[in-house]
Amino acid sequence: MKSRRNFLKTAALGAATLSLDGIPAAAAARGTGRKPIVVSTWDFGIAANRAAWEVLAKGGRALDAVEAGVHVPEADPKNVTVGYGGYPDRDGHVTLDACIMDELGNCGSVAGLEHIIHPISVARKVMEKTPHVMLVGDGALQFALENGFKKENLLTPESEKAWKEWLKKAEYKPVINIENQSYEGKGTGATAYNPLRLPGNAWNHDTIGMVALDAAGNLSGACTTSGMAFKLHGRVGDSPIIGAGLYVDNEVGAATATGVGEEVIRVVGSFLVVELMRQGYPPEAACKEAVMRIVKKKPAKAKEIQIGFLALNKKGEHGAYCLHPGFSYACTTGVGEKEEVLIKGKYYFQ
Ligand code: ASP
Repeated sequence: MKSRRNFLKTAALGAATLSLDGIPAAAAARGTGRKPIVVSTWDFGIAANRAAWEVLAKGGRALDAVEAGVHVPEADPKNVTVGYGGYPDRDGHVTLDACIMDELGNCGSVAGLEHIIHPISVARKVMEKTPHVMLVGDGALQFALENGFKKENLLTPESEKAWKEWLKKAEYKPVINIENQSYEGKGTGATAYNPLRLPGNAWNHDTIGMVALDAAGNLSGACTTSGMAFKLHGRVGDSPIIGAGLYVDNEVGAATATGVGEEVIRVVGSFLVVELMRQGYPPEAACKEAVMRIVKKKPAKAKEIQIGFLALNKKGEHGAYCLHPGFSYACTTGVGEKEEVLIKGKYYFQ
């Protein structure tokens, strides 16, 4: 007789198959169970993954890899959506959000952090040095300074110029996929950016979310962003919220999100993706279900915004799904053209 447990497992797998609109569930699982492996959001993930790979290739821990990896876009002044050079809030402050999670379920987070170039490392310190998960605003800055982080000006002249341009109209009009605005299709990574080409009257976003599986078979993740450009001072998106912008469960898999954070928070997106993988969904199917949850709840809103989920399971299979065309993720399993690939996320709105 089928046990209740087995029955539930089979039922969930059946649901996964049905949800794929004709794509067999098995075919939707990318990756061959290879490890180590690192995946991260957007074109700039290629350069970030390379730094993560240096750690993974030496047999390093996934946690160290994702921290090193996301340092790349955080330090890149040309990347206007993460870290240094990120577009400021409505009042001209560059405020950063980040979180990190390891294979043991430890996690740390900072939100609305100013003046620190690597918010992900502050988040890691919160995880390792305090009994807390999250520090915000001035408290997060105070903690960072007490722990040896340097206070810096993160507003570049280019981002200041874009903000002043935006102030002329001060319209909150979302732009789907900042990379479609700035990326000419030549090469990949941060060098492809020209922030000056971005419209000054737009609301822009894009986060680096990175998840990795190390040689020991352990998963970790990191997520870091300057959030929505020209946001209200104090606005926090999904990226530093454990379960929304990032979630890791070492038994099952890890997931991260990018796009309009408010909608990701409402469905606790990354946690949802991991829980769906626990029920047997392949990564892409799990991401699709999470996207569909958003579409079902707010169909009109979903048409106007971009959201993408990216997932990696314990076997090293990965997948993504998003609302609109334009979302891609970087997947790295080594060094070289075949090992460092940019994969287009499938999308709902054709
Ligand atoms: N999720 C980020 C936020 O809402 C922005 C993005 O990834 O596009 O702050």
